Amino acid sequence: MDQVLILGATGSIGLSTLDVLERHPDRFSVHTLTANRSVEKMLELVVKHQPKCAIMACPEAAAELEARLPSSSGTAVLSGQNALQEVASAPEIDVVMAAIVGFAGLRPTLAAARHGKRLLLANKEALVSAGRVFMEAARAGGAILLPIDSEHNAMFQCIPANPLGHPEMASVEKILLTASGGPFRGRSRDDLNAVTPEQACAHPNWSMGRKISVDSATLLNKGLELAEACWLFDCMPSDIDVVVHPQSIIHSLVRFTDGSVLAQLGNPDMRTPIAYGLSWPDRIEAGVAPLDLVDVARLDFQAPDLDAFPCLRLAQEAITVPGGMCILNAANEVAVAAFLSGRIPFTAIDLVIEHSLISVPAGEPQDLGAVEALDHDARSCATDHVERLCRASVGG
Ligand code: NDP
Repeated sequence: MDQVLILGATGSIGLSTLDVLERHPDRFSVHTLTANRSVEKMLELVVKHQPKCAIMACPEAAAELEARLPSSSGTAVLSGQNALQEVASAPEIDVVMAAIVGFAGLRPTLAAARHGKRLLLANKEALVSAGRVFMEAARAGGAILLPIDSEHNAMFQCIPANPLGHPEMASVEKILLTASGGPFRGRSRDDLNAVTPEQACAHPNWSMGRKISVDSATLLNKGLELAEACWLFDCMPSDIDVVVHPQSIIHSLVRFTDGSVLAQLGNPDMRTPIAYGLSWPDRIEAGVAPLDLVDVARLDFQAPDLDAFPCLRLAQEAITVPGGMCILNAANEVAVAAFLSGRIPFTAIDLVIEHSLISVPAGEPQDLGAVEALDHDARSCATDHVERLCRASVGG
């Protein structure tokens, strides 16, 4: 019986993971669930899944959770960032689902990598920011790294892997990374100035958390995924082409030296990649509806529009600069939060990122401290620029 830790249990990936786990009580046991502040949701999950431990990153939220749990509950409540890292390193944990959103997930995800866990990686921001440091930790710790992002999971399904999950890339010629194009596909940049957070979060195919939904709308998500694929599959950005595929039925493709192109298809439901990560190299039932190709009827492909969506171009440039993706990720997190709270328009997100990429001195971080320092500098620079943009807009 594998003991499972879900980092970010109250989020979209966390809940989908619990849905898959519930279907296989003979194989998996929910050991620990974590969240930041969502006490109500965590209370529900603890009552339903009765984990040994529940961790809230926010101490006040942990105190409230503890006060509201029935006295008969056998779940221990802990709080704080250290508790997240400790549980991710604990010997009794076999499987870690890394589904905290953003850079905040880096430390516990890195701890799981260092301690050789079977690591299901949804938190792409951790890998993109810490790149080399993260991959070296996973290798040294003997972690089995299983990509959960649907595109990378598709690549992983198409590329042969050794028993430790390391992909065998010798015969791979090109990776074709698919993008849905998001809710604003086909619009011009002028058309995007006044779009609202609700419109940006209304993805046509996927139901996701708000931050990744905005990343998908700006196409920045595809830039993060480009870097993610380079680290996971040990390849260069020039080995990967981005292709817009609005139906989100093909989750990515791989072209081999003999001209064969393998693709992974399925309904846009994250339970498929999650189930594959949990069961690899086997397969288990995931609760996903069968794909009906007659119903889908057609599969379309287009080149991405880098004029309307400059974030992808910025990522393609940043990836060639050591440390550039760490700066880009931090600036994007600041800009997306400012957009979601109504402080800056959608079209200012790329301005904040571009300003930060130009202003913050880059350099390949050699350890966790250097990654955190670079992230910190990029965040301050982006925050200052958001304030400037806000003042300029108030000033008219
Ligand atoms: P959500 O916003 O739905 O959930 C995020 C989770 O992280 C919540 O449990 C949240 O807790 C927790 N969290 C947020 N901030 C902190 C913090 N500072 N410390 C500790 N925990 C925190 O995100 P998603 O599930 O959509 O995405 C999770 C990750 O998976 C992201 O990196 C995303 O890019 C990636 N991903 C998501 C996909 C999807 O379909 N959703 C697809 C592919 C990748 P609380 O509820 O208390 O705020």
